[in-house]
Amino acid sequence: MRHRIAVVGSGPGGLTFARVLHRHGHSVALFERDPSPDARPPGGSLDLHEGMGQLALDKAGLLAEFRQLSRPEGQAMRILDTDGTVLRDWRPRPDERAHPEIDRRQLRDLLLGPVEVQWGRAVTKVVPGTGDGVLVECTDGRQDTFDLVVGADGAWSRVRPAVSPATPHYTGVTTVETSLDDIDTRHPDLARLIGDGSVAVYGVNRSLTAQRNSGGHVKVYAKFRAPLDWHAHLDLADVEAVRASLLALFDGWAAPVLDLLRRGTAFVHRPLHTLPVSHTWPHVPGVTLLGDAAHLMPPLGAGANLAMLEGAELAESVAAAPEDLDAAVRAFEERMWERAGTWAKRTTAGLERLVSQDPAEALALFDRLQPS
Ligand SMILES: Cc1cc2nc3c(=O)[nH]c(=O)nc-3n(C[C@H](O)[C@H](O)[C@H](O)COP(=O)(O)OP(=O)(O)OC[C@H]3O[C@@H](n4cnc5c(N)ncnc54)[C@H](O)[C@@H]3O)c2cc1C
Repeated sequence: MRHRIAVVGSGPGGLTFARVLHRHGHSVALFERDPSPDARPPGGSLDLHEGMGQLALDKAGLLAEFRQLSRPEGQAMRILDTDGTVLRDWRPRPDERAHPEIDRRQLRDLLLGPVEVQWGRAVTKVVPGTGDGVLVECTDGRQDTFDLVVGADGAWSRVRPAVSPATPHYTGVTTVETSLDDIDTRHPDLARLIGDGSVAVYGVNRSLTAQRNSGGHVKVYAKFRAPLDWHAHLDLADVEAVRASLLALFDGWAAPVLDLLRRGTAFVHRPLHTLPVSHTWPHVPGVTLLGDAAHLMPPLGAGANLAMLEGAELAESVAAAPEDLDAAVRAFEERMWERAGTWAKRTTAGLERLVSQDPAEALALFDRLQPS
């Protein structure tokens, strides 16, 4: 029996779900709010772990292509003291496959392949139990019904209210992101500072990291503890005012480190929100969530990996159990909740250590997690 299946959101989770279903011969309606694939600049590069994001790509039949595109050298990590002293300088072996980096745009195009996305269709409401299935309404006013609706629509999910009253809360840590282009030719000194992967500097309740993406593009993240309205007296659209405020916040740090802020172009404010650790909900037939919509957690390298693995696993379960869709979804949810709960605890504790009173905590965490 063929089910009517919809997924909301074409992030890593929703796309993996749709691609694996497609591989198993099932069609899926994929609703995406963005009007086109490149409507927004993609975020920073993602590291995909062997047993998680890479496993999901294997289930989608895309692992070989991922290996062609990804950058194992991007796993390199350098840690500096605030005075510029190099504290750690870890470089991966050429065959290191634990978590190579891939640009988000490359990953999206890889997953998209034959998947058809309904661009510019933002879902406003999902209503389960209508008699004819689950109703999905979009901003264009059109309504459709499905046997299963999967909410893969990220932190501020519009599907989530159909199963859970939970909403994201602010962690107390915020991020201001900037970027540098053409680093090797325009900023060779910073290219040397960053190396092939990332450089991180940890201070008291603040950190600066810079991560190389492909094509000489670098993302820089200033993270610090602050109230949500820390910028109340600052115009966030005023690039020079934001730059001056960040330079004051990181005052006294080594000049080459501060150059990451001095030469950054635009600044984007991204406060870090999370859902409650171990967020679950009473099962609702016909609706489920995955990825950030289900378990938004601090960005410590797990979110996209989990979203993709969940997308692949749910697609496989649905494809393998066409007679009892609800049982397949229930089993998926149990598995997702257990694994995501473990990661949510780990990343929440990680954020506490990476942006803390004692910068030595961050170094200790790095030493514990880094492959030898
Ligand atoms: C700075 C930073 C670095 C990170 N680095 C890593 C990393 O290295 N490794 C890692 O695993 N994770 C990383 N993460 C986390 C990762 O980005 C997220 O966990 C991941 O993108 C979640 O995927 P998703 O598919 O669940 O949701 P999203 O990627 O948020 O995608 C949701 C999609 O749904 C669409 N959408 C939203 N609302 C609607 C609607 N109403 N109707 C239709 N469409 C809608 C959005 O436009 C979007 O396309 C990082 C996060 C940040 C902020």
